[in-house]
Amino acid sequence: MKKIHVTSPLLPPIEEFTPYLEKIWESKWLTNNGQFHKQLEQEICDYLGVKHVCLFSNGTLALITALQALRITGEVITTPFSFVATTHSLWWNNIKPVFADIEPDSFNLDPTKVEAAITPNTTAIMPVHVYGNPCNLEAFQQIADTYNLKLIYDAAHAFGVEVNGNSVLNFGDLSILSFHATKVFNTFEGGAIICHDEKMKRHIDDLKNFGFRGETTVVAPGINAKMNEIQAAFGLLQLKYIDAAREKRKTIAETYREALKVVNGIECLHDAPIVKHAYSYFPVLIDKEKYGMSRDQLYEKLIENNIYSRRYFYPLISNFPTYRGLKSSNPDNLSIANDIAEKVLCLPIYPDLSADHIKTIIRIFE
Ligand SMILES: *Cc1c(COP(=O)(O)O)cnc(C)c1O
Repeated sequence: MKKIHVTSPLLPPIEEFTPYLEKIWESKWLTNNGQFHKQLEQEICDYLGVKHVCLFSNGTLALITALQALRITGEVITTPFSFVATTHSLWWNNIKPVFADIEPDSFNLDPTKVEAAITPNTTAIMPVHVYGNPCNLEAFQQIADTYNLKLIYDAAHAFGVEVNGNSVLNFGDLSILSFHATKVFNTFEGGAIICHDEKMKRHIDDLKNFGFRGETTVVAPGINAKMNEIQAAFGLLQLKYIDAAREKRKTIAETYREALKVVNGIECLHDAPIVKHAYSYFPVLIDKEKYGMSRDQLYEKLIENNIYSRRYFYPLISNFPTYRGLKSSNPDNLSIANDIAEKVLCLPIYPDLSADHIKTIIRIFE
């Protein structure tokens, strides 16, 4: 049997991509806010229901630039239960990450723990909508307002996620998306910042293009983080398939949930009725005592059967050498995050995952 990975990229038929390439060759316009770039910004705004989108070459540069755009310094409170890029973006801006613990049911940053971690040096909060599950949006906004802090969401997993019909990207000062090959919506590599006003959009667009505004004016020490025309063209094609892909992911999630609910010691996350989910990941928690096998033993057993699940997010960011020395990285401060990181396993979920393969995976659990 061939290897089944945790994800596999959404790739529309190649012949549908060729006409886009021909247009790029014809125009000889390869990057710097070309036609496809402009069109993709507009179509993403319409699709997601957001005001302004600034496209980026990847999500990490979008995060780094978002912090620059808001001139964040000092300390930022964030979660250890995420992909390393969340905290690396702080490091690259000379900002001290302060880790706070997560909630046991959503795996998202816990607002009460965030409030307790605020110091005179705190300037911002950077929560992550982990696995695309929305953070406690009201609580974070309230804390940000009370303490006069900026609020930047790492929404890399939350493309298309809505609460009560409103995109989660409309909350906070800025949100960032990743369009990496492994994400729900991909442009091979890519990313975006979502912002709420024209002035900020212009500022971010300057920053991602060396700080240029016009031909001879440099308004800020910007970086090069532009999305090119091939990426943008692919994004436009990908958008045509994104709803169908989500439906397939949803069906897979429902199949897993239905089958695994009878397996003692395996716990799935549940859909919230007011949330439109993206089904970007399918995490389960393994209770060693009840299930009779540890998470790592199950992970190995799956590999023996050619199933490559992933232990996202293990190890915690706070346990990597770069961050381990921080006071807030102490496991006593992050007991829930450490506990979840030991128990969690993300199962394969992607549009082309066949019903047979899903059955095979479920059988290994039983
Ligand atoms: C993927 C990811 C990123 C980084 O995005 P890239 O586009 O790969 O640079 C940042 N944060 C989280 C939570 C991610 O999952």
